[in-house]
Amino acid sequence: MASFAEQIREVRQRIADRRLAAEEAAEERRREVENKSAEIREIDAQLARTARRVFEISAAGPDGVREKMAELRRENEELLAERRAILEVLGYPGDYTEIRYTCPICQDTGYDGTKMCACMKRELTLEGFRASGIGRLIEKQSFENFSLDYYKASKEDYERMAQNFEAAKEFAENVPPQYGNLLMMGGTGLGKTHLSTAIARRVIERGYEVRYESVQNVIAAYEHDRFRSGRDAEDEQSRVYLDAELLILDDLGAEYVNSISLSALYHLINTRISQEKPTVINTNLMQRELQEKYSDRITSRLLGEYRVLSFYGMNVRYLKK
Ligand SMILES: [Zn+2]
Repeated sequence: MASFAEQIREVRQRIADRRLAAEEAAEERRREVENKSAEIREIDAQLARTARRVFEISAAGPDGVREKMAELRRENEELLAERRAILEVLGYPGDYTEIRYTCPICQDTGYDGTKMCACMKRELTLEGFRASGIGRLIEKQSFENFSLDYYKASKEDYERMAQNFEAAKEFAENVPPQYGNLLMMGGTGLGKTHLSTAIARRVIERGYEVRYESVQNVIAAYEHDRFRSGRDAEDEQSRVYLDAELLILDDLGAEYVNSISLSALYHLINTRISQEKPTVINTNLMQRELQEKYSDRITSRLLGEYRVLSFYGMNVRYLKK
């Protein structure tokens, strides 16, 4: 898996490439219309002299600077209006040669003022999904295509799944910024993955940073940090799981359990709880197995601070393939 620093570099590069491509495409369109219209060519040449005229006005001394600048601005506005009219006569939209950024908010810089733009956050998250292998699932699995029909054969199953579905949906609409945690317990193929992918997708759409990772990989990141040679903060792989606005941990119980993994897991779960950062955990383990496998301090945090959605006991015969 690419480190978080590598992912950031990659996303920054991608956004910078987008900006460059948008500027080049606009330049290409400008050449196209200038070739078709001598008037536009002349207007563009005049507009290109604006900077020099501003310099000349200010160099000429303070007298009447304000009036001269206002005059220049008015002239430019007239030129632009005329240019739009010519474009429309030629059959182009009036804004044909303007730069079309993918993200109008940050103009493909990745930053909205000093804040990271929502588009960059989303890219980073998608980059994280790609790295963790959920990329294609997130395109396929959403709340919209989650079907309760599979559970209809049993009234009890259906009602429980409807409850789980509503709880997951409500969670995804509000968390973050609200604080809450979900623990989805039950066997494979019962809808846990679909619901957690749908949560991830919705929360990303709402502009938050989501990390979706298997417990095993998170522990590998902690081990990497423990044994890494330098102390370069950029190379600290576990940081992203502590910082994520929403963390989804998949497959608790499938990892190899030892004292290092236990302390990593406790550190992660406990830090996120104490900082009120929401987390979703999926596990195939039953509550009893969970208590056998993990220390009290972990299970008490989970059972005390997480809302449990149970997928136990459903009749797998009725489930989709
Ligand atoms: Zn943006």
